[in-house]
Amino acid sequence: MTRTPVQTRALLLFLVVILLTANAGWAQERAPESGAALHDLRVDVGYLSADHLEGRETGTAGERLAAQYLVDRFQELGLQPGLDDSWIQPFDFTFSANPHAPQGEGMPRTGHNVVGLLDREAERTVVIGAHYDGLGYGGVGSRAPGDSLIHNGADDNASGVAALLEIARQLQASDARSHNVLFVAFSGEELGLYGSKHFVEALPMPAEQVSYMINLDMVGRLGENQRLVVSGTGTSPAWSAALDAAADATDLTLAEDPSGLGASDHTSFYLEDIPAVHLFTGAHDDYHTPTDDSHRIDVDGLQDVATFAVRLVEELDDDGDLPFTETDNERQGRQMSFNVSLGIMPDYVFEGEGLRLDAVTDADGPAGRAGLQEGDVIVRLGDTDIGDIYAYMDALNALEPGDTATVVVRRGDEMLETKVQF
Ligand SMILES: [Zn+2]
Repeated sequence: MTRTPVQTRALLLFLVVILLTANAGWAQERAPESGAALHDLRVDVGYLSADHLEGRETGTAGERLAAQYLVDRFQELGLQPGLDDSWIQPFDFTFSANPHAPQGEGMPRTGHNVVGLLDREAERTVVIGAHYDGLGYGGVGSRAPGDSLIHNGADDNASGVAALLEIARQLQASDARSHNVLFVAFSGEELGLYGSKHFVEALPMPAEQVSYMINLDMVGRLGENQRLVVSGTGTSPAWSAALDAAADATDLTLAEDPSGLGASDHTSFYLEDIPAVHLFTGAHDDYHTPTDDSHRIDVDGLQDVATFAVRLVEELDDDGDLPFTETDNERQGRQMSFNVSLGIMPDYVFEGEGLRLDAVTDADGPAGRAGLQEGDVIVRLGDTDIGDIYAYMDALNALEPGDTATVVVRRGDEMLETKVQF
């Protein structure tokens, strides 16, 4: 007997409530109606990260089950189909597990974005998004490559999708009415932002009518320090005051990163000159492994993050169109403390040994002048072996303008050594 989503939800409700009620020791006082919202959050995270969905890899049966569940939830929340009379936006792409494969080589795949609309009959629209696809049984992107176990993806990113649904519930009751709101659950993110790239290429309205985008990716581990990382704050001067007001209203502490480019779907909007921020509660050891499970999710914190996003929308309600500002991703935000830069864009989703270059962003920068290329993997910089992005940051930290350093890169099967001049 195939269970309907409703029967599965009832069964999961029983299981998840048993499992989770114990861990909210630091929960603050909450409005009575948020009790029902809290268990909806638990159930949404529980269902989406259940083995039943096999890690929700794009193009699989698990992805389609999740998509159907989201359509049902969007309907329950009173949203309308986001694409005329359709909830689902299929998109085709070609994917190869080999990061060096030429463009267009690989297996064809079809992913499915799920789109719901809160129609305020307004001229302008806000996009709130979260990817719902996951890593399936591991493989590409897994930090446990030897493990072909289900990567349940509770924090990455069932948490963001559950928060998206809670934001829809709260905005239905909000006085913020100057924008329509499109709620988008993207697929194809883990394989390379394919769903959001397609969505911005096929927007249901002119890009000029989209005021801004809020992206939720890994928001399930807020924890006691109530610290929320917000990237993309440099993509409009309007963000700062609104973020501060929303943080005050929710007692969250923000760690801001102005960079508009990052390892998630907000980047697709930034590249279309649409101001976009990414909400994130931080990396952890379970990231991209089979142990990213629902019992580790801070559900009270998840509701706080959702409420924060709602406050942000309310703060910006009268602002109309937000002015867009390009960010100098190398020197701002994450690299604010460095005195030098290589002039590259790191591949944030690369899981191999080293730091893979997603792009040489400055042809006249040290990397450009030294002949480094997209796809190169830096394994040594100066005196530092580069195992990941953090080692790269440490290596940059040790360098000063005017310094010359040896850099070793892996290009295909070759190891190349050259010098970079800062
Ligand atoms: Zn993610």
